[in-house]
Amino acid sequence: MLRFLLHYGIHFIVPLGIAYFFFKEHRLKAVLILLAGIILDIDHVLATPIFDTMRCSVNFHPLHSYWAIGVYIVMTGYKKTRIWGIAFLIHMLADIVDCLFIEGNFD
Ligand SMILES: [Zn+2]
Repeated sequence: MLRFLLHYGIHFIVPLGIAYFFFKEHRLKAVLILLAGIILDIDHVLATPIFDTMRCSVNFHPLHSYWAIGVYIVMTGYKKTRIWGIAFLIHMLADIVDCLFIEGNFD
């Protein structure tokens, strides 16, 4: 239950908080883009089964690989892609927290 709350808390609450505090001028647009970071999970359709709650997504799916994470970090360095980079990194953070639970770090 804690895992579920943390995962979806990061997916939905962190974007709201970041948009609220760091994108004051375009708050609504920022929230929408940050929430759209969830679309990275489309790469799950390449896997079988599509959803496996005991599988760590990070470095398993193509858009969750370490090189992809590197690309997201680079994106935050450019004004035009910064918000998307942040959106995708929030997604990775949510999935990393999930992995920590799967590996039993919080049991
Ligand atoms: Zn994911």
